[in-house]
Amino acid sequence: MLDCAIIGGGPAGLTAGLYTTRGGLADVTMFEKGMPGGQITMSSEIENYPGVTGHISGMDLMIPWPEQCQKFGLKHEMAEVVRVSRGAEGIFTVHKGDGSSVEAKSVIVCTGSTPKRAGFIGEDVFFGRGVSTCATCDGFFYKGKEVAVIGGGDTALEEALYLAKICAKVYLIHRRDTFRAAPSTIERVKNTESIELVLNATPEEVVGDASGVTGIRVAFAEGTTRHIDVPGVFTFVGYNVNNQVLIQEDGSFLCDMTPWGEVKVDLSMKTSVPGLFAAGDMREQAPKQVVCAAGDGAVAALQAIAYVDHH
Ligand code: FAD
Ligand code: NAP
Repeated sequence: MLDCAIIGGGPAGLTAGLYTTRGGLADVTMFEKGMPGGQITMSSEIENYPGVTGHISGMDLMIPWPEQCQKFGLKHEMAEVVRVSRGAEGIFTVHKGDGSSVEAKSVIVCTGSTPKRAGFIGEDVFFGRGVSTCATCDGFFYKGKEVAVIGGGDTALEEALYLAKICAKVYLIHRRDTFRAAPSTIERVKNTESIELVLNATPEEVVGDASGVTGIRVAFAEGTTRHIDVPGVFTFVGYNVNNQVLIQEDGSFLCDMTPWGEVKVDLSMKTSVPGLFAAGDMREQAPKQVVCAAGDGAVAALQAIAYVDHH
């Protein structure tokens, strides 16, 4: 039986692997369905990981992480986990895609979340070359420039406010004329001079050239269109939390979740189920940054060690 099973090998899972093994747990396996490193490996540049200067891609950042963990005894299994369940004795079972399973005393779930795509023409072609889903990551690249933000929820409006502090102007493009966001956030957006509301407008196409995005065309309900010249387009149209591994055979979740499918945790990354921890982008109120996911992984690992020792 494993002391700890870690599900997902992004920044949260790898850091959990480092801290559990280096902290003394003897038998820890990290289950990762693809290459370790997580979603940051898709990023061409990361500027905000502390202590890392110069031009570095997400892949470059993550390459040494698995080797560092393996040095302390972390085992890595390339496998998709389909479900985590918990028996009457408090022992977890990790069910794998190939039908096999393994038991564990504790589990740290770090399967991340995936920003949804809005579906306009050019979104995939220019993703990472002007189209972004992360203002904290990429906003600085547009310092003093004009950008577009798509969406009408809390995330879009909060990120539009964040970008308005960095960029010369933010066009907030929303397909309706009312927002889903909290009233106080809507008020702040409306009171921000550098944010122009472009309402009842559906993004149709992002256009650009070899150097990246140059503009976006939106269509209005009455049949007209507008072209907006911007080098950056930020889409915030919701997230899919990768929480499938927590869904039980009867359709319920193994632990308490928010209405939006994120795992509820306390400041120790403990879920509502003893011995089950969640870390990184999949937990509630995650800042969705590598440094934060790594920090969560370390916190969860220290708690998992204490849990296993105590039991
Ligand atoms: P993830 O990185 O999503 O890792 C989850 C891992 O779990 C994945 O490897 C996945 O394959 C695996 N997994 C999922 N389900 C299963 C399963 N059922 N079985 C086995 N394995 C599974 N952050 C920054 O701080 N700065 C940036 O500049 C920055 N830029 C970004 C640019 C892009 C293009 C993207 C997409 C993200 C960026 N981020 C950035 C955000 C950052 O990547 C995430 O916050 C961070 O990766 C979250 O780490 P995580 O470990 O929680 O999840
Ligand atoms: P969300 O509430 O689902 O909002 C998504 C927005 O994107 C909606 O305005 C939607 O338009 C728009 N949209 C969806 N698909 C689109 C498409 N294909 N093209 C154009 N626009 C599209 O997502 P979210 O803002 O990420 O928030 C998720 C949850 O987290 C929400 O419950 C939110 O309250 C919560 N949250 C809370 C806080 C906070 O409390 N501070 C911060 C962030 C998020 P329609 O409105 O027309 O559907």
